[in-house]
Amino acid sequence: MILKGVSASPGIAIGPAFLLDSQKVKVIRRRLAEEELEGEKRRFMEAVSGAEKEISALLNDIPEELRDHSGILKSHLMMLKDPMVFDRTLKTIESKSINAEWALNETLDYVRSLFKEIKDPYIRERMGDIEYVIQSVQGILAGSPSSLDFSSLEFPVVLVAHDLSPADTVQMSREKILAFVTEMGSKTSHTAILARSLGIPAVVGLENATSAILSGELLVVDGLKGEVVVDPDDVLLKDYEEKQQGYIKYRLEVIHNSNLPAETRDGYRVKIKANMELLDEIPSLISHGAEGVGLFRTEFLYLAQKELPDEETLFHAYKEVAERLSPYPVTVRTLDIGGDKFVSSVSLDEEINPALGLRAIRLCLKERPLFRDQLRAILRASAYGDVRILFPLISGRMEILEVKEILEETKEELRVEGIEFDKDIRMGIMIEVPTAVLVADVLAKEVDFFSIGTNDLIQYSLAIDRINEHVAHLYEPLHPGVVRMLHRTVEAAHAAGIEVAMCGEMAGEPRYVPILLGLGLDELSMNAMAIPKVKRVVRRCRQDDCAELTRHILDSSTADEIKQRLREFLRDKLPEEFDPVYNMAVDLEKVDSP
Ligand code: PEP
Ligand code: MG
Repeated sequence: MILKGVSASPGIAIGPAFLLDSQKVKVIRRRLAEEELEGEKRRFMEAVSGAEKEISALLNDIPEELRDHSGILKSHLMMLKDPMVFDRTLKTIESKSINAEWALNETLDYVRSLFKEIKDPYIRERMGDIEYVIQSVQGILAGSPSSLDFSSLEFPVVLVAHDLSPADTVQMSREKILAFVTEMGSKTSHTAILARSLGIPAVVGLENATSAILSGELLVVDGLKGEVVVDPDDVLLKDYEEKQQGYIKYRLEVIHNSNLPAETRDGYRVKIKANMELLDEIPSLISHGAEGVGLFRTEFLYLAQKELPDEETLFHAYKEVAERLSPYPVTVRTLDIGGDKFVSSVSLDEEINPALGLRAIRLCLKERPLFRDQLRAILRASAYGDVRILFPLISGRMEILEVKEILEETKEELRVEGIEFDKDIRMGIMIEVPTAVLVADVLAKEVDFFSIGTNDLIQYSLAIDRINEHVAHLYEPLHPGVVRMLHRTVEAAHAAGIEVAMCGEMAGEPRYVPILLGLGLDELSMNAMAIPKVKRVVRRCRQDDCAELTRHILDSSTADEIKQRLREFLRDKLPEEFDPVYNMAVDLEKVDSP
């Protein structure tokens, strides 16, 4: 039996299933007499302190490789005392004369209703963290321990559970836990992030896992494909054992080679950088061989903050990234909210078309103090490393002139105040609005670099809402119109003597690498996990072959024709990438699917 879920952490594990009982504590409603209320509130406060103690103990013992993720547990500590959870529950006990467990359940319903309104999947995902925190208090109120203890396991197992909390995950050791499978969760849940850091294969979002799998059954967890095989026959098992060995060999090679430069066989050097959202990602992007941060999506610093982060907070975050990455450069993008990204500290009006609304630079130009705080923080951080500044969603020259004027005023302010910053800080713009491509020659004279945001450029040029699943099948990076826009942007940049990067998802697709090299991009910035694969493909290519491929592609009239040419190129020039093991790891096979 093969069960399909979502791949949350790569790798292949084979071992016996160990089913965890659902941790959910059953809660009943009890009406309390007036004189019981004070005692009940105290019981609740003590349970919260108990949960705090448990989390603090985990923080003290956090394994070395997870130290950079301790922020997750610290945020759980903060959530416990968040007025939305803590004060609200106390008030409900009092006002409704009900038991702590039920009041806490009502709090959970209330928080859930708030989160339901949020569209950004990352922020919505944080609801999971609040649920864990509330569950752990419920566990203590019910007299059961709130997180799991794996130390008593006698042999290594594959954990199968309805859900696992980050607190459960930090206690996992690779010796005891071969892999885990959960019914809940997604790629961006903290449990998944931690699994990737620990190198434990994981499949999440596998509905009915706890009813379809029995304890003791042999499982193969394929964290690459997001599949779980229950009770495989000998042939399948042998097949997976080979795949497992192949993957281990591949990872060793990848890690060994991830710090080699991305240079083609004929000497064309492309810079490979990482996109980052959270400071937690720094160790991983360095170990994956990033030569700097090509896109720091700063809006994520505004997450989970009720108050708007002030200049000082932003400065410390940017400074930390600059210092930890030094001597590599960090490109900090100014706030890009609106569209599909919302943060609770900035209230935005309801818009019928948020993607076409008050988003990114448009919002910043309207809310000047918000913009100035960011500019000051980025400029100040530039004294501590190679910091560059990037402006999103620029559509034309007037906009960039306005931005430059504010940037110059901000520099002047700092000069007058005697605050240090990099006087030659490089500033660039995202090319992600179709008109910016059409006037790229004009814009190139105003800035130091371009960074192409293909996620939005494709959305706006093909008129496809990037978060609307009904049109997702029309999203086509290899549409001839898209490829021509990329070509035009690169030509305009190079004619003006500036560099051009790509930081949209397209840059992290190994199978597109020959086209991107053929177009002459100077830099590719992508999620850290994709870096070793992309570097590997770059090192196997010749730029002159890629340039020839791209010439043909620019003459093609449909996406199908382009895919056909790319497929032939990959088969002809990179046959080793079609080895079954690499096929699995480099994922070039996707080109074959429609
Ligand atoms: C893009 O649009 O391609 C991009 C990199 O930015 P974001 O995905 O944050 O909009
Ligand atoms: Mg964008």
